[in-house]
Amino acid sequence: MSLDPKRTVRELKELRALTASEDGAQRVAWTDVWLKSRTWFESKLHGLPVEHHFDAAGNRWVTLPGASDRALVLGSHLDSVPNGGWLDGSLGVLAALEVLRRIASEFKGRPPVTIRLVDFADEEGARFGRSLLGSSAFAGTHSVEADRVRTDKDGIRMDQALSRCGVEMDQFPDARHEQKNAAAYLELHIEQGPVLERLMLPLGVVLGTKGVERHALTFHGQEAHSGSTPMKARRDALAAAAKLALEIRSIAGRHPDAVCTIGSLKTFPGIVTAVVGRSECSLDQRDLSAAVLAQMYREAREASERIAKEEKCTVEWSRIWNIEPIQFHRDLVELCRQAVMETAGVAHQLPSGPLHDAAEVSRAGIPTVMMFVQSVGGISHNKVEDTSEEHLEMAVRAFDRLATKTMQWIQSSIA
Ligand SMILES: [Zn+2]
Repeated sequence: MSLDPKRTVRELKELRALTASEDGAQRVAWTDVWLKSRTWFESKLHGLPVEHHFDAAGNRWVTLPGASDRALVLGSHLDSVPNGGWLDGSLGVLAALEVLRRIASEFKGRPPVTIRLVDFADEEGARFGRSLLGSSAFAGTHSVEADRVRTDKDGIRMDQALSRCGVEMDQFPDARHEQKNAAAYLELHIEQGPVLERLMLPLGVVLGTKGVERHALTFHGQEAHSGSTPMKARRDALAAAAKLALEIRSIAGRHPDAVCTIGSLKTFPGIVTAVVGRSECSLDQRDLSAAVLAQMYREAREASERIAKEEKCTVEWSRIWNIEPIQFHRDLVELCRQAVMETAGVAHQLPSGPLHDAAEVSRAGIPTVMMFVQSVGGISHNKVEDTSEEHLEMAVRAFDRLATKTMQWIQSSIA
């Protein structure tokens, strides 16, 4: 049985038919539809010479034992956001399955190194707001206490929802045992952005995932009557936030792949007859370089203080969340470049703005790389998310090549 990329496309459609409504994919982690997608996936394992089980965090592991215990791990996630797309995560899992089948067949069930497939639980964090849940338990970066008491929109607690699916949060740390013998991790994913499409390229080599600095900012001015307060006498907290929103464009613009976003802005009192006395906004900054990220953070802070002064306001900052940039493994990035080059003729390298399970695996110290395939219109987390079938098939072929190269890379490190 040789590699059959068309089968991957067929299976993706089968999964979509089983788990999507007219609004898109509904495989939200810890729901019945998600469990159904996992049962469906298990049915695809029949007849393969593999062992499979769930770890303590609900990640599914499928193992094809090899001559060496050193393992090549391939994976992604089957869960989706509500009203999501048909490819985010599921492409990576089903492409991994196709590669696993090819290797099992080619080596008559006993490849030179062990091959493992992982379907991480709750990558999206769509229900409880905690992304990369399963992979962070695997990596040992998860803190159970902080998440246990999270609730969904119906007030159901996270630990209760997981318990219903047979996962006990207290056991999460045991998921780390699955790291044993992992020699490399590969993940194929849709780009979820417009870069490859603009370059008219099907595939891309992912250098790493950008680090994130996420802050809440509050500008304090003076609430005042909109009729009686002369323009020069105003301390307008919205004017300050608006100036900053324009300023962050040039802060990001000085670095090729950096992005800065003010995605939320609230004004108080927020009525037509008052000058804004207080404005609250978010700032999300991302880059693949820790130094650039730190510099952009400094520059945004300085700009906000200068602008606050100009507008006779003050500004306060508080950090919401941050994560350091993850640079993927140099050797594996090179192997990925070769695999993409051999398949598509051009190998563009790019960082990932969104986070992925691969970032957590890399944080665990396991050599990691990702491959991207073009997203039509750069859209994802939406029912219109799409990739052409021709590109999907190319992606499976390139990913298979990368798996072969990485098996050889692992073997050479054993020898
Ligand atoms: Zn994803």
